[in-house]
Amino acid sequence: MPRSDPRKMTHRTLPACKRIALIAHDDKKEEMLEWTARWQALLAKHELTGTGTTATRVAQHLGLPVAAMMSGPLGGDQQIGTLITEQKLDLLIFFWDPFSPQPHDPDIKALLRLAALWNIPVACNATSADFIISSPYLDQDCQIAIPDVEDWMAKRSTGNA
Ligand code: PGA
Repeated sequence: MPRSDPRKMTHRTLPACKRIALIAHDDKKEEMLEWTARWQALLAKHELTGTGTTATRVAQHLGLPVAAMMSGPLGGDQQIGTLITEQKLDLLIFFWDPFSPQPHDPDIKALLRLAALWNIPVACNATSADFIISSPYLDQDCQIAIPDVEDWMAKRSTGNA
């Protein structure tokens, strides 16, 4: 018997004041500092967070508050993933390094999976980040489709998903 589709969607609102996470691997940190400096005036209107080293360096560089999670290899990417799952993050700027293997590669994959699952905007390079940060949606409330948690749980608890 075919199973019913568990992927019913609902919506949530990304607020006008976005909660933005910044992550850069070591060889991408200078690029992140340049990028954040270029967009400083816009970024200052939003709430910034990031993995430990990235957040600390951006905060020092810009003089803006950036809430620091744990450093990435110590679990920071997972903490950012938790924010996404709890609908407490609206935008992810993640300059990952395509040349260097990372010890926390499973965490990075998990973070990108959660960003895809919860349908938040993600930029993995500076050009994508330029496009996202200059979007008219940045300073507006906007609705995004997300999985319907209640429907999902109801189906699973009755064995239909
Ligand atoms: P970091 O972590 O900001 O603490 O360097 C980034 C990462 O490697 O995921």
